[in-house]
Amino acid sequence: MSLFFRAFIELIFPKLCWGCKKELSFHSNGLCLACEFSLPYIYFKGNYLLDISSELIPPLELKKVFALYYFYEGGRIEKMLYETKYQGIQTISIYFGKKLAAHILQQKWSFDGIIGVPLHKKRKRKRGYNQVDLIGQTAANLLSIPYFGTLIERIKNTPMLSLIKGNREHIVKDAFRLNRKVTLKQGHYLLIDDIFTTGATLKACAMTMENLSGLELSIATICCRS
Ligand SMILES: [Zn+2]
Repeated sequence: MSLFFRAFIELIFPKLCWGCKKELSFHSNGLCLACEFSLPYIYFKGNYLLDISSELIPPLELKKVFALYYFYEGGRIEKMLYETKYQGIQTISIYFGKKLAAHILQQKWSFDGIIGVPLHKKRKRKRGYNQVDLIGQTAANLLSIPYFGTLIERIKNTPMLSLIKGNREHIVKDAFRLNRKVTLKQGHYLLIDDIFTTGATLKACAMTMENLSGLELSIATICCRS
């Protein structure tokens, strides 16, 4: 789309900030500066997630475990996640993907590829896309590494874990399997999801890869319940 045409469209339909819904300037990427700075960044706080998950996935040694933001009930991140998952605002997932790539570059980390936690095909069909794919594909493009959105398959359409109180491990156990049609070269891969709550989903996904040789695994999520 040409700049002129974009400017014309935005004159008629001004872009609104995802956070405060105020009108945005032409070059803004979806959040106004005030909202961007008010996001609850987590990554200044060290290995917060690592403490939770070091015992979580015993057979697999995780190299790095990190999240970008804290998740608070009723907070801005919850609203953005809801809008990108259920209201079709795909640009929010793309924004998160850019932030993930920027964080990895800033830390001077390198990965051989990104692996996304899949949705069950029925849920994906209903939603039209998997927001984790959008996040992962965006980050992978910016880092010039491959994205694997179909390496892990979700074979059980589990209920929404956010609605389940207590232990969720039994729900996602055996919900995933490795897609043997996708080959993964040896290397260090980043498994990603949008939110880390108890780690049950990420653990179940990571376990599908426990027999792959020469695999090093790290985990990242966009946000983590505080
Ligand atoms: Zn705003």
